[in-house]
Amino acid sequence: MQFISTRGGAPHASFSDVLLAGLAPDGGLYLPESWPQFSAAEIAAFAGKPYQVVAYEVLSRFAGESFTADELKADIQAAYAGFESPAIAPLRQIAPSSNGSQYLLELFHGPTFAFKDIALQILGRLFARALTRRGGKVTIVAATSGDTGSAAIAALGGLPNIEVFVLHPRGRVSEVQRRQMTTSPHANVHNVALEGSFDDAQGLVKDLFAQTEFAQQIGLTAVNSINFARIAAQAVYYFTATAALGKPATFVVPTGNFGDIFAGEAAMRMGLDVPRLVIATNANDIMARALNDGVYASGASHATLSPSMDIQVASNFERALFEASGRDGAWTAAAMSDFAKTRKLVLPAPVLVALRARYSAYACNDDDTIATIKTVAAETGQVIDPHTAVAVHAARRIPASATPMVILSTAHAAKFPDAVTRAIGRDPGMPDGLKKVMDLPEKLDILPNDLSLLRQFISNRLAP
Ligand SMILES: *Cc1c(COP(=O)(O)O)cnc(C)c1O
Repeated sequence: MQFISTRGGAPHASFSDVLLAGLAPDGGLYLPESWPQFSAAEIAAFAGKPYQVVAYEVLSRFAGESFTADELKADIQAAYAGFESPAIAPLRQIAPSSNGSQYLLELFHGPTFAFKDIALQILGRLFARALTRRGGKVTIVAATSGDTGSAAIAALGGLPNIEVFVLHPRGRVSEVQRRQMTTSPHANVHNVALEGSFDDAQGLVKDLFAQTEFAQQIGLTAVNSINFARIAAQAVYYFTATAALGKPATFVVPTGNFGDIFAGEAAMRMGLDVPRLVIATNANDIMARALNDGVYASGASHATLSPSMDIQVASNFERALFEASGRDGAWTAAAMSDFAKTRKLVLPAPVLVALRARYSAYACNDDDTIATIKTVAAETGQVIDPHTAVAVHAARRIPASATPMVILSTAHAAKFPDAVTRAIGRDPGMPDGLKKVMDLPEKLDILPNDLSLLRQFISNRLAP
């Protein structure tokens, strides 16, 4: 399996190249040259199989030339051994069939209590393996809106030949989220609280990649959802959920950087029958506006109760645009370069038609988020987190039908105790795995939103 760039200007790459590089050298995002295919019978046969088996079936189609079957199976087993639910991604019904059946797909049973673990626990292991084989060192710089950072630290902290720098927007992540990152005991983990928004942090990381000499010198790479290995690992639960229900479902996805929902498009392109993918955003509604108005334009960044989705530039949308344009790399490159200059992209009619055939989009404000947490708790006894609530709110605006709805539940409520307490009048309680970070000492550096100061900081930390 070879990989190509969405901007059409990078040499073909292998899975392990893609894994270690993150971003393609022409600034684009990697995608498989052609999508592997699963037949309806193969997908139906996933029903009842352990999650790890389906993960192997899906991942091996992408990674099979870079890793042996034994290596992949061992890493998948190890990745999910620490999950507290043996199902890894269990389905839980929250509305009865009489009312159009709705399910939560619980993706937060990993070590950091958000869905990012599902991909990063595998990615970290494959990364270490590929790096040992290739030799050398890498520097990972990740921008986080809250959950990628802790999941990356949990997956990569303490690994040899890897340094991890995580930039979070100062004061814009929850206390639990911050402590999960800053209490890591590992010397290869470096936390930066950036004076700016998540988009500023993500912009700095992109600018670092653009400084190709420095990037090469430090072996810069990315584990953000621009890394295709994450998309591949996240496609797995679209398959397991559909197989478990025994019929196609509409998926409703709390969306920020468009990685999780694009994994749904990936599953569809591999043969999974998904009637519709529903984008659910908070007040940072660039994706809802893009789909509904046909103009992808970044606005001001709002701090909301669902901070992991406080994003105005949805990096992975580039992958969907490339596909919707009929894989036109030249057009995608020109469109992204225009967008970088003007912060606005008017979607051409054929591209918009292709996107609307697959996606719908709804935005939700903080009041609706709180009200939804409250209603779901009253109706079902389930306490959901604010990101999940944004998606439940979207799901409940779609007319009920015979098609089941699967709502991706991306974080444990305990990560966002303030919002949950506001909604239901009591603290959601904290699992032991989270409690422990509340007392440990924190390590972080505050930096202004400035590329040369960030470079200097990284160089100082890397100096032997
Ligand atoms: C990262 C995250 C999201 C958004 O996922 P994207 O892949 O960035 O769209 C939603 N919910 C939670 C809890 C997250 O951590």
